[in-house]
Order: sequence, then C-alpha cells, then structure tokens
Amino acid sequence: MNTGKIETSVFEIAKNLLVGIKTTLKTFFRKPVTFEYPREKLKIAPRFRAFPRLNVNKDGSLRCVACMLCMTICPSEAIRIIAGYVDYGLENELTEREKGNHSLDNLAKGVFDDGRRHPSLFEIDMLRCICCGYCEEICPEEAIELDGNYEVAFYSRGESVYPIEKLKMNFKRKYT
Ligand code: SF4
Ligand code: SF4
Repeated sequence: MNTGKIETSVFEIAKNLLVGIKTTLKTFFRKPVTFEYPREKLKIAPRFRAFPRLNVNKDGSLRCVACMLCMTICPSEAIRIIAGYVDYGLENELTEREKGNHSLDNLAKGVFDDGRRHPSLFEIDMLRCICCGYCEEICPEEAIELDGNYEVAFYSRGESVYPIEKLKMNFKRKYT
C-alpha cells in the first residue's frame, strides 16, 4: 500500500473542507444577495426595458396608425395587426377568433372619424417577444415602446397574446 498517496489525499480532503468552512463562515453573516420574489420586487434601473406597450394620445386614443412597420420588422413574428376594418370593408375577412376579440368592440365605426388610420386588431404574443426593441426603433409615431414591465405570467398559452386593451394597460407612463 502506498502510504504517501493516502497521506496526500487525506491532506487534500482536509484542505478542501477548511476552504469550504471558510467560505461558509465568510458569507454566513452577510446580507443575502437573493430576494423573496414576488413578495420583494427587484429594483430595476431607470433605463431598463422589457416588454412593449402601446402608447396613447392625451385623449386616450391609440397613437398607432397601423402602418405595419413593427409587424414587418419583428424578428420573432410576435406582432399581428389588422388595420381599421370598418372603414376598409374588411370585416368579412376576420376570423371567428378575431371577431371575438373585445379590442374590436372599442374600435367600432365612428372611431376612425378623426381621419387617422388605426388598428382594429393589434396583438403581441409575449411568449414570442424577445424584447429586442426593433418595433420601438422603427415606429414613426412613437406608438409602441418597450416598458420596464418584466412581469408577464400566464396560466395558458392563449393568455400570452396581449390585445390592445392589455397592451395599453401594460404601460406605466403615458405619452404627453
Ligand atoms: S420587442 Fe422585438 S420581439 Fe418584441 S414585439 Fe418588438 S420587435 Fe417583436
Ligand atoms: S405601433 Fe408604430 S410601427 Fe407599429 S403599426 Fe403602429 S404606428 Fe406602425
């Protein structure tokens, strides 16, 4: 039996044990670096950006003019827009799911009388969104903007698709 080797490994084990104890003692009395989410919230930096929101004018109307640029540039195809169908006579092209979308109720005929083009359907799938910010960059109307809201949670995949009303609610700051 090689006693020299045994002595070395015993020495190694004791050394590693002491290093472990030293590390434990060093951190034992320190304040934890983790926090009890969701009871405690992470303090985010003021410029932190997460998921997109839809901005509104002072009168509460959407700033979006349904130009489709954000939908086109979105790398994960998370955005889906249908431009004001009432004015363009496209209601027959809506699927049953789209007709059941309550965003459309709020954009019934007459809301387009301001002469602006608006989306009748605007959805973002938060499960697809990768918070890249391309939509915000390309928007000519400052109508879509990434928000500091990083808390999106759902019980089903369907709930991950945010309609207009939810995207408006997603924001913390209004456009002024
Ligand atoms: S942040 Fe990026 S991934 Fe998310 S909706 Fe905008 S363009 Fe698409
Ligand atoms: S959010 Fe901006 S880029 Fe997207 S459709 Fe509306 S106006 Fe165009």
